[in-house]
Amino acid sequence: MSTVDTPPSLSMRRDAERRIASVEAIPIIAPFTRLYPGGDVPSWLLQPAASHRTLQRKGQYSTLIRLRTEDGLEGIGECYGLPAPRVTAQIVRDIIEPLLIGEDADAIDRLWSKVFSSMSGGGQTRGYFLEAMSGVDIALWDLKGKAYGVPVHSLLGGPHRDRVSVYASPVPMLDQPAASADYALGFANQGFDAIKLKLGRGARTDVAHAAAVREAIGEDRELLVDLNCAYTADRAVDVVRRLVDLGITWIEEPCAVDDVAGYRRIRDSLPVSLVNGETLFTRWDQREFLVNGAVDVVMPNLARAGGITESRKLAALCETFHVDIAPHGVGSAVGLAAALQLSASVPNFRIYEYNRLPNPLRDELTVDRFDFSDGTLAVPTGPGLGIELDWDLVDEFRAE
Ligand SMILES: [Mg+2]
Repeated sequence: MSTVDTPPSLSMRRDAERRIASVEAIPIIAPFTRLYPGGDVPSWLLQPAASHRTLQRKGQYSTLIRLRTEDGLEGIGECYGLPAPRVTAQIVRDIIEPLLIGEDADAIDRLWSKVFSSMSGGGQTRGYFLEAMSGVDIALWDLKGKAYGVPVHSLLGGPHRDRVSVYASPVPMLDQPAASADYALGFANQGFDAIKLKLGRGARTDVAHAAAVREAIGEDRELLVDLNCAYTADRAVDVVRRLVDLGITWIEEPCAVDDVAGYRRIRDSLPVSLVNGETLFTRWDQREFLVNGAVDVVMPNLARAGGITESRKLAALCETFHVDIAPHGVGSAVGLAAALQLSASVPNFRIYEYNRLPNPLRDELTVDRFDFSDGTLAVPTGPGLGIELDWDLVDEFRAE
């Protein structure tokens, strides 16, 4: 009998299916009082955007996932943590982990469907449940990349690019236009070519801050505006009409998250690109916006929109409608790494939101720092997500 050489990866898979042994959820909080030991946390950090008027932030939050297989491999993921990371952790423990124990960790797409279908009939297709699913999904991709010794973007068919264009975000809701101008200029001096400004405080205030920022950063840098669902569509038309003369690149979340007709009305009224996505979850949430031509760029947050598996499918759906994705950037280093991996692996990537609010969970949690230069971030090339966490620091931030 002749012997046929089997590729190592195939033989490895036949010999030892990687069965899931545990899914640990770790809620973490970095309180703002750590950054401001005197306790005098500035109001723009407690309430950086219009969407935080009723629910102020007291720190930076995340729920990390540490998924282990019986053969000793480990993958890390992140669930969006705002505003209650312990809630997401409990969903992982009570619902998701029992569904996954003993399953083949390689079968990521099948496991996504198994978990989603277990709760979708009960209406759990958004919110905390999807955020809990997202972190577990990211951990499975990290683990698979480590198992095969390749970065996640390679598993996904990439890379399309080695470095990812980013914009600085946000210029938060500061009191005076001059303060917004100084804050934006700080980003420009750090090498950012595109900067996002948080508005949604009424037409007069919005225009004053946007005009001051535009003057500070000059005509050559891109100015992006985020309204965080602050207006009804008719008020948004009024505000956006005054902003378009300032050369705005895009308007993000001008009105309510589900107001497809409102988006369409704004888009039909004015020469402006509209962006949404951070408060939507799956492809099914985005479908009506795409079918109705109501959105120009879509912003999934990988730690809430179903992880890498679902965000990749959303990107493909957007591509079908000639719409780009621009992943949302609030979260820890794990979500950032996941976004870079996806951004490197899809053709219709536009730009990534590099959040620059003070956040040790994003900037200090990894052994190696992310490589930023000339308005771009390097895509990590190590196995999996390509990052290694400082677990001593994780322990410092544990919220339980
Ligand atoms: Mg936003």
